[in-house]
This record gives sequence, structure tokens and C-alpha cells, in this order.
Amino acid sequence: MKLYNTMTKQYEELVPLDGETIKMYACGPTVYDYFHVGNARCFVVFDFLRRYLEYRGYKVNFTQNFTDIDDKMIKRANEEGTTVKDVAEKYIAEYFTDAKGLGVRPATNHPRATENIDEIIDIVKTLVDSGYAYAVKPDDSKDDYDVYFRTRKFKGYGKLSHKDIDDLISGARIDVADIKEDPLDFAVWKATKPGEPYWASPWGNGRPGWHIECSAMSKKYLGNNIDIHAGGEDLAFPHHENEIAQSESYNDCKGCADTTFTKMWLHNAYILTDGQKMSKSGISFKVRDVAKVYGYEAIRFFIISAHYRSPVNYCVEAMNQAKASVERFHTCEDNLNFRIKVAKEMGTRNINDEELKLLEGFAGRKTQMCEALDYDFNTADGIAAIFELTRDINKALSNEDLSLEFLEKAKEIYMELITLFGFEIKASENADEDAEIDALVAQRAEAKKAKDWATADKIRDDLKARGIVIEDTPQGAKWKRA
Ligand SMILES: [Zn+2]
Repeated sequence: MKLYNTMTKQYEELVPLDGETIKMYACGPTVYDYFHVGNARCFVVFDFLRRYLEYRGYKVNFTQNFTDIDDKMIKRANEEGTTVKDVAEKYIAEYFTDAKGLGVRPATNHPRATENIDEIIDIVKTLVDSGYAYAVKPDDSKDDYDVYFRTRKFKGYGKLSHKDIDDLISGARIDVADIKEDPLDFAVWKATKPGEPYWASPWGNGRPGWHIECSAMSKKYLGNNIDIHAGGEDLAFPHHENEIAQSESYNDCKGCADTTFTKMWLHNAYILTDGQKMSKSGISFKVRDVAKVYGYEAIRFFIISAHYRSPVNYCVEAMNQAKASVERFHTCEDNLNFRIKVAKEMGTRNINDEELKLLEGFAGRKTQMCEALDYDFNTADGIAAIFELTRDINKALSNEDLSLEFLEKAKEIYMELITLFGFEIKASENADEDAEIDALVAQRAEAKKAKDWATADKIRDDLKARGIVIEDTPQGAKWKRA
């Protein structure tokens, strides 16, 4: 499988560094609010990449953190008259609710910054001891220090975002009251301010900077050298650039044979609304709210149906189309189930050559899908292959005489692909009601057989009033929720 590495600007073959397990880190959410469709892209895409890597036989250790201490968290806690910890607990729980709806599985590890303070302090200490970072007092009347990374000391600075350090210097904002040695230096530890949560450290009371959190959690859960680091393209600079500076300087201090922090850098593009970047603070489309209108699966489809490095525009038409597309997959699955049920009840003949040939064609769609995903995870072309398979199967189902073996094999291929993409029909939350409807539909069939049209019509009308539509097919009646 080849992936586009932002660092080298090349498509590179993915080979696990340790020959066995892909170690993958994605920058997770700052948990001060519900997440929006723009944030969801990163969660959906990289969880799906992990699923696909597993489908292809790799072992994957996928770590995605929660940033549970930062300025926005503190601001939200003050606004709500609660603690930063309570804000974090609330929105971490809400994250898992929306993630589950979107078909995003929990990561192998979900570390929180506040639970890794010792690890963070250890890295900062190593950096300070070796001169990669320095402590300064922001307030002479107190004994708490800020610690800054000496950006210029790290020779590779700018290599990910392809920025020249001299250009960065001329563009850097120079604060008059700046206590830093160089405007490019960034905070790895911040002295405490009144009303903020803090931890004791060798530099007095304070809290970690954002960038150091990812360096620490990635190192703790995945080691000093990792295979893939992923995130939104807005994180490449300065966040990921700073992570590289910290982690590779740390690896250097520790005498690592290979100081490279991450072999492959993957960045997803933005979701736009009217040509503008979607963000939590500006134009906002919370997944929770969008799901109420279109359903979670439509959001998942909308995200996966585009290649992760292409910007996409969020709009009503796109969401309606996404919803209809998911419906098509469900209908096809439903039809296969129904035909299998009927073939089992009615008895069947052996599979014939024509059917075997059709199955070969279906398998070809699977190959087509894998080829798309194997080349920089092109989920857009992957979905196109599933659409073609859906069309192939629908066409085959127009034949009323199909063997059970053919139907089951067709379903097997279809479900493999549909489940990989996360669009299988989910187990109904109203299994009891489903059983009741099945029974009523069976009663109606009996009534029709006995030419008791009044009873048959009444059952149909009663169900219709409940939003259940019965469709009569040559193989018998089937129902669905309208
Ligand atoms: Zn990060």
C-alpha cells in the first residue's frame, strides 16, 4: 500500500518499522465542545485507514489522544461555572457517542494529557538539561517558570511544512513584552496563572504546552519511532512541526540510533462551507445536530466518498445525496437477505455457470476497491467500486430464478465490502417491533391466501399508519420503514 507522505511529498510504500505492527498516532480533539463535521473527517478517515490496514492483515496500534487541558478548556469551565475536569469528562463521553454513531471504533489507546503529566515533565526536563529548552520567569514576583523550546537549535525545523526558518523569522509576530530568546521559540511548559489548574514541576507550578502533550503520549504508547502520524492539514504547522522538533531532539538526547520521530505524515484536507473552513468557533455544524437531520451514516458517507486530501464542500445537496446512497446500499443488502430467505423456504437448484461468471465479476469489484484504497487510500474510487457492485447485484436480482448458493456467495462479497466501509444495516434497536411486524406480514399473507381481502387490507393499512410500507414481490411480501 502506498500513502502520500507530506514530509517527502512522495507516495511511499507502507512497511512497518518493526516488520509487524503499524504504530499510528492521530491528534485527537480538545474536549471543550461537541465536535463538528470538519473535525469528524479526521476521526472517520484515520479510523477507516486503521480498519483497512487490519483488513489487509497488518497489526495496528492506533493511539488518539484527548487534549483535556488548554485555554479553551479553561474558558469553557469558567463559562459553565464548573471544573476543567468536568468539562473534559462530559465532552469525552459525548465524543464517544458521536464516534460510535459515525462507525468510528475506539482507538487502541485514548490517553489524556492530564494523565501523562509525569511523562511530559520527563521530556521537558531532558530538553532543558541538554539546552534544547530553557526556563524563564514570566512574573518576577513568583517562582513559577515558563519553559520554551529553542527552535533554532533544532536543525530540521520547517522540514514537514516545507518552511524556511529565515522566512518564519521575518514573519513571526514579535511581542514587545516577549520574554523569549527568539520569537520562534514556543512554550513546552507554562507557569500557572490565577484560577487555572496546575501541576508541580521542577519549574514551579504550571501546565504543559499543547505540542509537548502529543510528543509525550506518542512516545509513551508507541515508542520513539512511529510509522504514521496523522491529523488535519491545519496541524502541520506549527503543531506537528513543533512535535517533530521536541521528539527528535529528545531522541537525540537519548542517543537513539534513528532519531526520526515519524516515518510517514498524513494530513487530511478541510471540509468547507461556502468555500470557508469549518471550525468549532466560526461556522459550526455539530455532528450531533447534523445527525438528527441526515443520520450518522450519511455523514460517514459524505466524508468517505471524497479522497481525504481533497477539500470538500458541505452542503444540503451533498448530504441528501449521501443519505440516498446509504439507502441504496441498505436496499441491496435487504434484497439479498429477502431472496436468500425465500430461496431457503422454496427450495433451490444448484449454482450454474452463468451465476459463477457473475460471481467472478463481483470479485473483480473487490479487487478494484482494494486497488483504489492501496493507492493513497482513495476511498472515493473505493466507494465507486461498491456502487458498481451494487448495480451488478441489483441487475442479477432482476432474474427471479437464482440459486441459494449464488445468492449466499453474492451476499458474502457484498457484506465484506459494505461492512469494511461501515454501511451495513445496523442491528435494529427495535427487535421486538420487527418480530411483531414480521408476524403481521405473515398473517396478511395467510389472509390473502384465504382470499380474505378485508383482513389483508386492514393489516396493510394499519402498518401504513405506523410508517411501515409493505411491498409485494414475485417472491412474496417484504416490508420496510418509510
Ligand atoms: Zn498533536
